[in-house]
Amino acid sequence: MIRSLPRRTPAPRLTTVLLLVALAVLGSACGKDGSPPVKGPAAGALPRYTVNEGFQLPDSPTWERAERRGHLTVGAKEDQPYLGEKDPATGAYSGFDIEIARMMAASLGFQPDTIHFRTIASANRETALQNGQIDYYVGTYTINTNRKKLVGFAGPYYLAGQGLLVRTDENDIKGPQDLAGKRVCSAAGSTPYQRIQRDYPKATLVAYDTYSVCVDNLLTYQVDAVTTDDAILIGYAAKVPEELKVVGKPFSQEPYGIGVPRSDNALRFALDDALAAREKDGDWKKAYEATLGLSGVPAPNPPAIDRYPAS
Ligand code: GLU
Repeated sequence: MIRSLPRRTPAPRLTTVLLLVALAVLGSACGKDGSPPVKGPAAGALPRYTVNEGFQLPDSPTWERAERRGHLTVGAKEDQPYLGEKDPATGAYSGFDIEIARMMAASLGFQPDTIHFRTIASANRETALQNGQIDYYVGTYTINTNRKKLVGFAGPYYLAGQGLLVRTDENDIKGPQDLAGKRVCSAAGSTPYQRIQRDYPKATLVAYDTYSVCVDNLLTYQVDAVTTDDAILIGYAAKVPEELKVVGKPFSQEPYGIGVPRSDNALRFALDDALAAREKDGDWKKAYEATLGLSGVPAPNPPAIDRYPAS
């Protein structure tokens, strides 16, 4: 996903090339075995969530449909390190959002092998929930009033903030105030894209479906910065710390919610209850430490759940 740098850097020495080849071979062997990538959690470190056997939610049309079908379809991201990543060799999803999705499924009475993940880009989340393509969505999805007109949100389960990712050779951009005349990339339909458009109109905005395409463009000098949530940017920077860095302080609040169909209040309240229980019994913290915590940021306290009334 992250392509190598263009030839602006000096030609790598033979030892470096050999080391990279060796790492690549090792990496692909690991992928085929189904073991986690080098930077991922150690095998067995991921929590197992107790399945709420016999759970029933007759007032939720979404839950009833999933129960009849025999599996849950959960929307997620597939290119966000530590949060939602899909292994191209095995098709397995991993990351903090994925763990949240799994613990929610367990609370709703679904066994781990009955969760089907489906990648949905930022711009398509509301439609996917409205059309019933997915039962719920867990993928760095900011709760806000505009989106609440279209979908429901359980949570929040995590609080992120908008940040900036630049190349390590960039010295001019230290915060959003430095973006005038710069090419800034973000995902279409995202809150960070909207914030730059509204508050920093002198920046030249570039939109793609996914942040990994933005990061490719940053590495190849097509754009000057990538903007989205700090939690996402830290993951990209950690993959290539010699090439990329996160700069400045977070300049927004992005509370992450679990997206549900808007009218399904029963499902939303059940997920709020499930989150509260998993925060209390330590599963939330275990999930964080096995995923997002690997980026080096210690587990924060989860934000207060906003159980807003049915409308
Ligand atoms: N949290 C922000 C949003 O929901 C940015 C991350 C994303 O696009 O998923 O728009």
